Amino acid sequence: MASMLARRSLDTLRARHLGKLCRDLIFLGCSPVLFLMAPRKMMKKRSSLLRKSPRTGVLINYPFEKGPLSPRFRGEHALRRYPTGEERCIACKLCEADHRLMMPMELILVVCPAQAITIEAEEREDGSRRTTRYDIDMTKCIYCGFCQEACPVDAIVEGPNFEFATETHEELLYDKEKLLENGDRWETEIAENLKSESLYR
Ligand code: SF4
Ligand code: SF4
Repeated sequence: MASMLARRSLDTLRARHLGKLCRDLIFLGCSPVLFLMAPRKMMKKRSSLLRKSPRTGVLINYPFEKGPLSPRFRGEHALRRYPTGEERCIACKLCEADHRLMMPMELILVVCPAQAITIEAEEREDGSRRTTRYDIDMTKCIYCGFCQEACPVDAIVEGPNFEFATETHEELLYDKEKLLENGDRWETEIAENLKSESLYR
């Protein structure tokens, strides 16, 4: 009887340990099934990973508290201005989907893979080129960041804002005014993030 009770309590302990192990693995982004089926020679690595595994999770009271965000985070788009207030965008259209056929059967250039950006432009009286229309269909966008990478003047950027859910599709069809508004609102954070990443760009 005593040995049966001892075995049962040992089984309970094992089950608890296994449950905790699975929780820790999921927290670390590993698949518990694959991890536990790993060959014996991986056991050493497995135990060293487990030693480093967190024992407790961290809860934050969102939306009143927020976790840290990488300076490379690709959130809501914004069009930036220079400190003088002048728009940065020079309407080069490098960020836009471009279907021009350079030569028969030659490569078709596409910067925005989702073809979410639409730009129209014209020359101003002073000879500078500026957009008359800059639209982004945020429901098509896949947040790849290619538009930001293609822009020679850091005009179009993906800012740190991730809280822009809406109730209707139409609200996610951004025009130039909305994008410039975003730029004005998030300029401090965007400029800091671009500065901190400048070495790697
Ligand atoms: S992030 Fe990617 S998909 Fe979205 S607008 Fe820019 S290039 Fe297009
Ligand atoms: S946002 Fe940048 S890449 Fe796009 S048209 Fe303007 S200057 Fe060119």
